[in-house]
Amino acid sequence: MEKLKINIAERTTPVVLSKNLGFGLIFTDHVFEMDYAPEKGWHNASIKPLKDLSMHPATMFIHYGQAVFEGLKAFKTVSGEVVIFRPEKHMQRLNNSSKRICIPQVDIPFVLNALNELIEIDKDWIPTNKYEALYIRPFIFGSDPFLGVKPSTNYKLIIILSPVGAYYPEGFKPVKILVQDDYVRAVRKGLGECKTPANYAASLLAAEEAKKKGYTQVLWLDGIEQKYIEEVGTMNIFIRFRNEVATPKLTGSILPGVTRDSVIQILKDWGMKITERLVSIDEIINGYKNGDLLEIFGTGTAAIISSVSTLGYKDLEIKLNTDEPGELALKLFEELTSIHSGIKEDKHNWLTYVERKPVEII
Ligand SMILES: *Cc1c(COP(=O)(O)O)cnc(C)c1O
Repeated sequence: MEKLKINIAERTTPVVLSKNLGFGLIFTDHVFEMDYAPEKGWHNASIKPLKDLSMHPATMFIHYGQAVFEGLKAFKTVSGEVVIFRPEKHMQRLNNSSKRICIPQVDIPFVLNALNELIEIDKDWIPTNKYEALYIRPFIFGSDPFLGVKPSTNYKLIIILSPVGAYYPEGFKPVKILVQDDYVRAVRKGLGECKTPANYAASLLAAEEAKKKGYTQVLWLDGIEQKYIEEVGTMNIFIRFRNEVATPKLTGSILPGVTRDSVIQILKDWGMKITERLVSIDEIINGYKNGDLLEIFGTGTAAIISSVSTLGYKDLEIKLNTDEPGELALKLFEELTSIHSGIKEDKHNWLTYVERKPVEII
């Protein structure tokens, strides 16, 4: 791997962040880019000013969707240090997603070093208000100009950064979720466990229809029997029953969330019973009717924890906490955000501290 080239634009005006950042609306002024060619491997690694891409209209990923992405976050701790939450796990998942879509693997330590450098350069863009963060979006796409279905031979990896506030317009208010049985997002042995654009294209119509009915997102059922719950649009799902917290096990059609993994660990640390297993929609309905169902919440990097107030399924509305987030959801949200901001001990070494490394990275 050759060296990382750095070409930083002079910042003539200071970075000013608006009060309401929203999510995914504004971007920092630098990006990391690197190219792949069969004879050179990954090369041409550079950090440079953000600008529009110029590409041939036949660029393969636009037509055939050969692309993968990640979403992770950096935070400023209360003592002013810059940290990234579980970057290595996210990069491993990027490589796992790539494998399924015939995209070449990246060298994880190299990309992590480049990411550290990029964040160091753009650290003034990291918002410091509670629950705000710098969202990191690495992505790779097939870049050959070619019409015809086969893997691309050339690829581009880019990392962009976006200062963000709350993911849902409701903030940390509970969300209404509709159980979706008109459409399927993913099936086992398909692409469900990859962060790849096809999955999101498959989800759009269902989410739009749910929104028209007053719901924020949909909860997908398994693609074969439409019987077991899988996950929400961009979140994994947890069900708190009276004697157990359950989350759907990773069957291949569900995205293995890093937040999901962190929440499972925290619940274990707290001595709670947490089970990864099949959870049927009927079991949830029965639990609601007999009082065993206490709480439902989603987990994902963007929203961190999202408490579910209402679960709609056919003609039934399962009403949980109407106005306030559930007790466990709130406790987990506080725990994770306290780890992010350096208030609570980082017992499992989930934080990577961003330090300025020498510019020449081998
Ligand atoms: C990204 C994503 C998640 C959450 O994963 P995290 O690693 O926790 O951010 C869950 N489901 C889908 C479909 C996703 O794309």
